[in-house]
Amino acid sequence: MRIAIPRETQPGENRVPITPDVAKKLVHMGADLVIEAGLGVGAGFTDEEYVKAGATVSSDRKELFASADLLLRLNKPTVEEIGQMQRGCIHISYLDPFNERELISAFKEAGVTAISMEMIPRTTRSQKMDALSSQANLAGYVMVMKAASHLPRIFPMMMTPAGTLKPASVFVIGAGVAGLQAIATAKRLGAKVTAFDTRPVVAEQVQSLGGKFLEIDLGETGETAGGYAKELTPEQVELQRQAQKDVIAKSDVVITTAQVFGRKPPVLVTQDMIQGMQPGSVIVDMAAETGGNVEGSRPGDIVEWSGVTIIGTGNWAGEVARDASQMYSSNLFNLVEDNWCKEQKLFQVDFNDDILPGCIITHGGEVTNETIKNIME
Ligand code: NAD
Repeated sequence: MRIAIPRETQPGENRVPITPDVAKKLVHMGADLVIEAGLGVGAGFTDEEYVKAGATVSSDRKELFASADLLLRLNKPTVEEIGQMQRGCIHISYLDPFNERELISAFKEAGVTAISMEMIPRTTRSQKMDALSSQANLAGYVMVMKAASHLPRIFPMMMTPAGTLKPASVFVIGAGVAGLQAIATAKRLGAKVTAFDTRPVVAEQVQSLGGKFLEIDLGETGETAGGYAKELTPEQVELQRQAQKDVIAKSDVVITTAQVFGRKPPVLVTQDMIQGMQPGSVIVDMAAETGGNVEGSRPGDIVEWSGVTIIGTGNWAGEVARDASQMYSSNLFNLVEDNWCKEQKLFQVDFNDDILPGCIITHGGEVTNETIKNIME
């Protein structure tokens, strides 16, 4: 089976889907591996390392797409690239399937099997393939680093002959994978951390990291069968906003990571709350690129409003491209290895598997994923 790894073309993307270490494992499994020249440049991997791992290098991107049986990637393709793939080819990457009708139609028409990394279920067995978690974990760390570098204060308490500096106060909204890592990182730097999440089970996890959980009574909240937060009603969102207002005003740093799977993120920090913060404070909006938890945050940018710095940079894990590549690459490898037929040396699309069918969006000229099919109709 020919496995092809084209270069990522999204501006500012330095991560690679497959590192040389993982390339070696794929070759060892019997794959005919070809990479596009310069694949690993952004993350510091050379073509020679891939060649040493047993891959061949091609500079003909179009041919790479046309000859691939399996494409392993990070970001979604363009419609034009889908047009270059052969029928029956398998394409694995992030796909943003809830928002990409045009791409999904193109995959369907092209007879390409599209597998979405976002749709890997959050089960114990699939943890090793869970790229949302591996990248969110790094994002949590990066967001705190960004905040620290923009804050005109230090995070830890410091007692010196020149006086005592109080620790910085950090408020984390949303304590999923990214939020918990943000809490842990801010604590390690010596900050005083408070956090809130609509899933009550999270309170204990926040406390175990040394954070304080803000209690807000929103009535019925909870989580879906898949472990995700349920969407709040507009009344609940308003209740939450009011209950957070005071903590936000007293915080030096606010980090927002609140997401509702498959939906637009809720706006939880409004302009009047930002106005209540001390000038020089910093807000990091992890969700800026998908709509934002913070009013006025700008995707891919850092803005200042009312003396408060609002960071909406995005591609957080991409800031630590080498580690992010290692983790994503490992997630991809585990997915491939789990579905690899050793006898025929190929990736087998098995609709009886407990993980794979939920991640397949299109197959054999059809949209096979029921959730996405409903959205498309
Ligand atoms: P996510 O990115 O969908 O959301 C981030 C956080 O935002 C979640 O904790 C969510 O509860 C929270 N949130 C939503 N609306 C909010 C609001 N209005 N205010 C405050 N917070 C709000 O979630 P995620 O980080 O990808 O993880 C979701 C869940 O899946 C978590 O329970 C996580 O522990 C679980 N998980 C399980 C596994 C596994 O078992 N294999 C792997 C990864 C994650």
